[in-house]
Amino acid sequence: MPDAEILAVGSELLGTQRVDTNSLYLTGKLNVLGVEVVQKCVVGDDRARLANEIASALRRTEIVILSGGLGPTEDDITRDAVAAALGRTQYQDAAALAAIEERFRRNNRKMAEINKRQAMVIEGAEVLPNPRGTAPGQWIRTEDCRTVMLLPGPPHELKGMFEDQVQPRLEAMLPKQCIETAFYRIAGMGESDVDALIAPVYSKYTNPVTTILAGAGDIQLHFRARCSTTEEAKSLLAEVCPQIEKLLGDRIYSNDGASLEETVVKLLRAKNGTVAVAESATGGGLGARITSVAGSSACFMGGFITYTNEMKEQLLGVSSEVIAEYTEVSEQVAVAMAKGVRDKTGVGYGVSVTGEAGPESGSGQPVGVFYVGVADERGAEARRYQFPGDRARLRQLGTQWALDMLRRRILSAG
Ligand code: ATP
Ligand code: MG
Repeated sequence: MPDAEILAVGSELLGTQRVDTNSLYLTGKLNVLGVEVVQKCVVGDDRARLANEIASALRRTEIVILSGGLGPTEDDITRDAVAAALGRTQYQDAAALAAIEERFRRNNRKMAEINKRQAMVIEGAEVLPNPRGTAPGQWIRTEDCRTVMLLPGPPHELKGMFEDQVQPRLEAMLPKQCIETAFYRIAGMGESDVDALIAPVYSKYTNPVTTILAGAGDIQLHFRARCSTTEEAKSLLAEVCPQIEKLLGDRIYSNDGASLEETVVKLLRAKNGTVAVAESATGGGLGARITSVAGSSACFMGGFITYTNEMKEQLLGVSSEVIAEYTEVSEQVAVAMAKGVRDKTGVGYGVSVTGEAGPESGSGQPVGVFYVGVADERGAEARRYQFPGDRARLRQLGTQWALDMLRRRILSAG
């Protein structure tokens, strides 16, 4: 199976305002076809530099995809750079020129002389029509079986051209591949801990390919099997996945891509459970995450944002002696908040978060210390968490820990 390399062209992509999203789109599409993207880069509008990069890419990779730089102006240099790298000439293609002229006519615009540049085609290239824009794309097969394609920069033009023109050509060119993917999402473990636990299993296999993606307190695992039949791909996953599931157990919260809040809402709804929240450091973030899920009104009753100690006492009935003795960032206060919100609202599960999000500590506890509490008919408990991070990350982690603790509590209720 050939590999691919992507070159995104445009000086604007080297600045701080524009991001190369085309390569992400292309990577997703190529992966589905079984092609791995092994390298990518962004090159400014510099003819010699780009020609150099294209030549290097062609030496090491079978499929080279360029996006952007097909416009009519002097700084649109992709055609020239590819022609230089391949040592081929260009000619003005009559059909491509007619299509560009027709587009201007249809839009009642006068075509400038420079737009003719966009009808320049590299010797031996197939022209890829672009009904969404002016610049046609080009598809080139070289003598040494490399494939080079020139695609437009504007994302909607690139996507349209990929789907209409590139995908069918790739499918005809590539050996047939069937891809099956297993997804897992994991909470309550760090990336390196997950890796240490499962590496002994996944490192035995090159197929499926394992990818670990880490977010704040949230890990995604992907296992992608590529075979010539779906049955083979499925049977590879059937060998690896049960081993992974056994190692991670209930740390896995979803295997269908569902987020943690979606998983919690689904669990609560399945068990006719109800929840209310008492938040300090997360300032409503936990409630926001739960209510972001459509259908959460069936299980989420509401909550209290008790940022000051007075509010914790008045609204949740946390005792001032407990706060004085243990501080507001403590196991005792987290338990009292969880119990308090459950008693005040009559829900099945009361969940609390209190912590030091920084940058300064208000309670005397170190920044990064959080306590998450859960109360239900069996009683209440709280856990301590401590991680480094800035305020935004810590607040996000606070909601993550709270959701995960609630999830485990619901599971343990049977
Ligand atoms: P045009 O004929 O419109 O000039 P072009 O092929 O020359 O097409 P560019 O000029 O390079 O394309 O880019 C046009 C627009 O598309 C710009 O707004 C640019 O920021 C955006 N764009 C270009 N490349 C990318 C990319 N890799 N990812 C996301 N947007 C891109
Ligand atoms: Mg341009």
